[in-house]
Amino acid sequence: MSVLRISILGAGAMGSLFGGLLAEAGHEVELLDVNPVQIATVREHGLLIRDDAGERRVAIPIMRPEEATTRPDWLIVFTKAMHTQGALDSARHLIGSQTRLLSLQNGLGNAEKLADFADVSRIAIGMTTVPADLVAPGEVHSHGQSKTRVVMVDGSEDAALAALASALDAAGVPCAVDPDAVVAIWEKVAFNVALNSLCAVTRRTVGALGADADGRQLAHAIASEALAVAQAEGLMVSPQRTHATIDHALDHHGGHKPSMLQDLLAGRATEVETLNGAVVLAARRHGIAAARTEALYALVKMAEEGA
Ligand code: NAD
Repeated sequence: MSVLRISILGAGAMGSLFGGLLAEAGHEVELLDVNPVQIATVREHGLLIRDDAGERRVAIPIMRPEEATTRPDWLIVFTKAMHTQGALDSARHLIGSQTRLLSLQNGLGNAEKLADFADVSRIAIGMTTVPADLVAPGEVHSHGQSKTRVVMVDGSEDAALAALASALDAAGVPCAVDPDAVVAIWEKVAFNVALNSLCAVTRRTVGALGADADGRQLAHAIASEALAVAQAEGLMVSPQRTHATIDHALDHHGGHKPSMLQDLLAGRATEVETLNGAVVLAARRHGIAAARTEALYALVKMAEEGA
């Protein structure tokens, strides 16, 4: 195995999990975050990971981005979307001429943000279905099967991306380089735009939304708006697959509170700009109506201000 130098920008739920698993697999990983409690806890106790493989502690360096000095092979961005720009600004000195950037964040527009910090030939994006919860500082839980798909933004075949995908795969994060990763990103956007924003404004769990016939119908109608925009972008998204994934979540993700609801309940900003907001902008570009997505966007913004 060749050891990769990987820095994770944003070591919350996802960053801690990916970083911890890659460190456990023998890679040189640094976690970069600004949360003093997370930094202190991981420094003192290591990272506690609980997943289907069991519970263990992983020792892993963690620091604020501006304190880091290692120029990594890969800088993986796992902040929430509204913090990407600020985080990358403070990590700019770590991006060397060989450093590649990867975003597995939800939503649209991630590649464009990364493109301010590296040549497009060194930027990858992707979609992951890995679930992660930071249940306490320094403690991350995950479970179940997942898929992660990545692609270079310029469409090139890149040996470094293949190496990263293999490293993730071997670390317990099934990952493949997939030319259709952008299709997967949009299908997940359709899913998130529907369920996140509806659960956020109704203050309902996914299961409670699914128990309501009107809620289910609205969720599917919102997803259809996003899928129509994706099709206008020339992407071969699958409405059947997306609606089936939504039905599965409505039927089986009973008590789950999507992150947008969790953020509103905690009085934090949400990722609505890169979900509903970005779909609405793209719909306008194509002259497509996305009235429900737009209404939910306005409602979440109002709820954010109220919080
Ligand atoms: P999170 O809030 O748990 O973690 C984000 C971390 O970024 C926090 O620890 C925060 O302190 C840190 N951060 C904020 N500003 C920073 C800065 N300037 N510099 C460095 N770090 C900074 O979020 P998460 O749940 O891990 O989600 C991260 C991304 O992954 C989001 O785009 C989310 O939509 C996506 N995602 C999440 C899941 C999930 O199950 N949690 C699944 C798939 C995708």
